[in-house]
Amino acid sequence: MLDGDFFRRWLSTAATAVDREADRLTDLDSAIGDADHGANLRRGFTAVTEALAGSDATAPGALLALAGRQLISKVGGASGPLYGTLLRTAGKALGDAGEVSREELAQALRAGVDAVAKLGGGAPGDKTMLDALVPAVEALPASFDAARDAAGKGAEATIPLQARKGRASYLGERSIGHQDPGATSSALLIAALAESAEN
Ligand code: ADP
Ligand code: MG
Ligand code: MG
Repeated sequence: MLDGDFFRRWLSTAATAVDREADRLTDLDSAIGDADHGANLRRGFTAVTEALAGSDATAPGALLALAGRQLISKVGGASGPLYGTLLRTAGKALGDAGEVSREELAQALRAGVDAVAKLGGGAPGDKTMLDALVPAVEALPASFDAARDAAGKGAEATIPLQARKGRASYLGERSIGHQDPGATSSALLIAALAESAEN
C-alpha cells in the first residue's frame, strides 16, 4: 500500500527532477514554444516543496490536492493549470484514505488525466503531455516500471507529430521533428513515481 510518506517522496523526487532537467525542458520549449517550460515547472515545484514542508497532511489525497493547488496558483503557463488539475483531481478521487493501492492510484490518475483532456480540449496524438500521461496511467495497474516506460515512449513518440494544442500548434508543420516539452516533463514525473516506489 502507498501511504503519505510515499506521496511526499514522489513529489519531492519530482521537484528534484524538474530542477535538474529544467534547462532541457526549456530548450525543448524554445524549439516549439516560448522557452519557459523548465522555469514554469521549477517555480511550481518549488512552491509545492514549500507547501508540503509547511503542512502536516498525511493522507495521499490531501497531499496531491495541496500540490495541485500550488501548481494552479503559482505557474503562469498552460502547464500549471493542466498539471494542477491532474493532481487536484487525482487527490480528490483518493478522498481521505490513509493508504491507497497502486490500482487505486491508477484510477485516480486516470480521473486526473480525463480532467486535463477536458480542460485543454486535447487528446493523445495532439503532441501534448497527454501523449505521455495516457499510456502511463494505462500501464500503471501492471507496474510502476511499466508506467515509466510507457510515459518515456509516449514522450519520444511526440517527435514526428504535428501539434494540435497549445503554443506549438501555432507552428503548424514546423512543430514536426521536436519532442513536446510537456510530454517530456510528464515522463519525468512518472519516472519520479517509479523511483519513489523502489525506495
Ligand atoms: P506555455 O505554453 O503557456 O508557455 P508551458 O511551456 O509551461 O506553457 O507548457 C507547454 C506544454 O503544455 C506543452 O508542451 C504541452 O505538453 C502542454 N499543453 C499546452 N496546451 C495543452 C492542452 N491544451 N492540453 C494538454 N497539454 C497542453
Ligand atoms: Mg512555454
Ligand atoms: Mg509561456
